[in-house]
Amino acid sequence: MNFKYVIVGAGLSGLTMAERIANVLQEKVLVIEKRNHIGGNVYDSYNEDGILIHNYGPHIFHTNSQSVYQYLSQFTQWNDFWHRVLTYVDGNLIPMPITVETINKLYNLNLDCSQVEDFLKKQAVEIDEVTTSKEVALSKVGPDIYSKIFENYTKKQWGIDPAELDTSVISRIPIRLNRDTRYFADRYQGMPKFGYTKMCEKMAANKNIKIMLNTDYKEVIGDISYEKLIYTGPADDYYDYKYGRLSYRSIHFAFETYDKETFQEAPVVNYPNDYDYTRITEFKKLTWQEHRKTTICKEFPCAEGEPYYPFPTKDCKAQFALYAEEMKKESKVIFLGRLAEYKYYNMDAAVKRALDVFEQMQKAAQN
Ligand SMILES: Cc1cc2nc3c(=O)[nH]c(=O)nc-3n(C[C@H](O)[C@H](O)[C@H](O)COP(=O)(O)OP(=O)(O)OC[C@H]3O[C@@H](n4cnc5c(N)ncnc54)[C@H](O)[C@@H]3O)c2cc1C
Repeated sequence: MNFKYVIVGAGLSGLTMAERIANVLQEKVLVIEKRNHIGGNVYDSYNEDGILIHNYGPHIFHTNSQSVYQYLSQFTQWNDFWHRVLTYVDGNLIPMPITVETINKLYNLNLDCSQVEDFLKKQAVEIDEVTTSKEVALSKVGPDIYSKIFENYTKKQWGIDPAELDTSVISRIPIRLNRDTRYFADRYQGMPKFGYTKMCEKMAANKNIKIMLNTDYKEVIGDISYEKLIYTGPADDYYDYKYGRLSYRSIHFAFETYDKETFQEAPVVNYPNDYDYTRITEFKKLTWQEHRKTTICKEFPCAEGEPYYPFPTKDCKAQFALYAEEMKKESKVIFLGRLAEYKYYNMDAAVKRALDVFEQMQKAAQN
């Protein structure tokens, strides 16, 4: 077989590259995917009751990038969805992220915005140099809110104490001194009107794109001649684990369907302190599907399983740096996406990165 471009992985990174190569360069491209479907982790499907679920956990699209929003809007219309999350603490459901409403509900107060600012300042611990996720939380909200909302959730999610995680984990969680209880504040937010899989199918609908499912690229790559390989699989697997296995946090998703129209008050409810799971998603509240039954998903973080979240510790980053050095030596291979770059990318960031890498590749070919 002869293809100028071969892509490993049919997730959003791989499909964005495939779509650009096929449409802009008008070149043939082969996409090799080891799963039995395209879409990677954004894949959604209808379960046996006919309810649309996100097979790899809830995915909510949000971005401040107009170019990414416009790019994906070629392949889908959007439901005007604003995500909301509640957190179960001390028997109450309080809004997340932390807003004025959260503080008032948590402490049974009636403070205005500036009073909440003063309240948080009094709680916050002064720390000279913030180097861990625990210190981020303590320096922003103090020990009581840290223990009620962040400490146990983070321990469940990562299996280690927040004091051992770098600042990136808790820094991502905003604290708003207003009453905006939307989970994301981005300019563009929404859910693909007919689901992510339909969106991905449209991205791949080009006669220049051939997709090989159920195939680990290592089984076939020796029989294919190509000029460029775009690799979106795991970095350590590409190098046969020569520097050891990179650590990931995985999740076991437990789906349950109930014979009632609605299950909970919000699309996602977090459980920082109770139960073994971290959160419950009710899919109909994301997709707006009408159905007399409802399906939920409980998330049980675990060490073994599909690689979902790169481990945010110094040691893991140092281990990946060894693979990154090897990657620099490759002239025919581009490493792209959350697995190859060992980096947590939201969907918009994954698409943006692929669009940027495509442009770089195009420029390099012209020179
Ligand atoms: C639980 C969870 C929830 C998330 N929620 C959100 C959210 O709400 N909003 C948001 O913006 N982002 C969310 N994300 C992030 C989102 O999933 C990623 O941005 C996106 O999936 C990245 O796409 P990718 O193509 O880089 O990786 P992937 O989707 O992982 O695609 C990589 C593909 O490569 C394939 N592959 C790997 N090895 C091989 C091989 N040897 N041969 C062939 N194929 C191979 C894999 O099977 C996979 O299909 C979430 C992620 C997780 C894990």
